[in-house]
Amino acid sequence: MSAVPHHQPTLAETDSEIAKLIQAEERRQFECVRMIASENYVSRAVLEATASVLTNKYSEGYAGKRYYQGQVNCDAVEELACSRIQKLFGAEHVNVQPYSGSPANLAVYLAFCKPGDTVMGLGLPAGGHLTHGWSVSITGKYFKSVPYGVRPDTHRIDLDDVRKLALEQRPRMIFCGGTAYARTWDFPAFRAIADEVGAILVADIAHVAGLVAAGVHPTPVGIADVVTSTTHKTLRGPRGGMILCKAQHAKDIDRAVFPGLQGGPHNHTTAALAVAAKEASTPAFKEYAANIVTNAKALGEALAERGFALITGGTDNHLLLVDMTPKGVGGKPYAQALERAGIVCNYNSIPFDPRKPFDPSGVRLGTPAITSRNMGVSEMRAIAGFMDRVVTHIANESELERLRGEIKELCSSFPAPGILL
Ligand SMILES: *Cc1c(COP(=O)(O)O)cnc(C)c1O
Repeated sequence: MSAVPHHQPTLAETDSEIAKLIQAEERRQFECVRMIASENYVSRAVLEATASVLTNKYSEGYAGKRYYQGQVNCDAVEELACSRIQKLFGAEHVNVQPYSGSPANLAVYLAFCKPGDTVMGLGLPAGGHLTHGWSVSITGKYFKSVPYGVRPDTHRIDLDDVRKLALEQRPRMIFCGGTAYARTWDFPAFRAIADEVGAILVADIAHVAGLVAAGVHPTPVGIADVVTSTTHKTLRGPRGGMILCKAQHAKDIDRAVFPGLQGGPHNHTTAALAVAAKEASTPAFKEYAANIVTNAKALGEALAERGFALITGGTDNHLLLVDMTPKGVGGKPYAQALERAGIVCNYNSIPFDPRKPFDPSGVRLGTPAITSRNMGVSEMRAIAGFMDRVVTHIANESELERLRGEIKELCSSFPAPGILL
């Protein structure tokens, strides 16, 4: 019989294939300009909590009401996470157990809807999320989804359309929030519509949670019945989800998450979220969030000067949606060429896109990750210049290779949180 060996093998010793891939990914994240709007760099502190022994513990239930013994530390961790998030957002109640943004939304359906109920959300092609009732999602299959859109002239949310649809369809639930919408959400206007038809209003702030926490985007807390979010986008926490709600809905939400949808919470993630919430309550984070928006606007202006077409003409938040049609290239080949040059973003449908979702007209750009590296307005101008050169030289591999060197050089001056190269 063998006891635990005195020397516990490292990851590199146990599994060099995975260790090498993680190392290579760390290098890629350091050497590239990462502009996927939903991504970020978490701090070393958040990474440490994520990689902790808390992953070993089962904690089904809630603090003080668990189904297994041994919760002395995990209860304290979850209570800290909850109190910090509540304070950060001014919420009456929070559930930090959802495994990610999609399960958080599914728990909200379970709390308030029966299969077949009517729900409304921004349609996916207009910048909404799959879980707001899109057809291929479970939320579009088990519920009757009536998506609203954006105006054909301005590409902004059409509140008249939302109200008209709501009055016709009498939805049980209305979602606001999106993944590719560069403008501020008017939560009070959605509240008024929800009240008129007696619907539950859910604000999904997955993308803008960090901006909301810092007061850079208006908050839906206290306006929407329920607020859902991921924790890993602008909030810069570990991968996870959370649900904030008014006290009156606390029991329904908690029961929907557990035992309704999930088993044991991911305690290591909860701890990392507590750390991220502490970080997000500092003046430095407020400055960070303000800089995200300043950078997005500066990048937008510099791109517009170079003839790039911005959907809605610009941005109020952390992202830009760019229609590549005037540049004569599809979003996908452009995103692929950008990656060869060291700029990573995603191809994206634009509103009323004449092209297919897998080969759409646009690209989506976000500034949360590059702002975490302290890049500023002059770097945004430089990045716009690089992006222009990629369009001009899209078929010229040696020019893309040269650009890649220049971009690597730029990145080498901007340390990334959590990366110790
Ligand atoms: C990212 C996102 C989600 C889903 O989050 P996952 O963690 O990927 O499941 C849900 N809603 C919105 C608006 C999002 O942007």
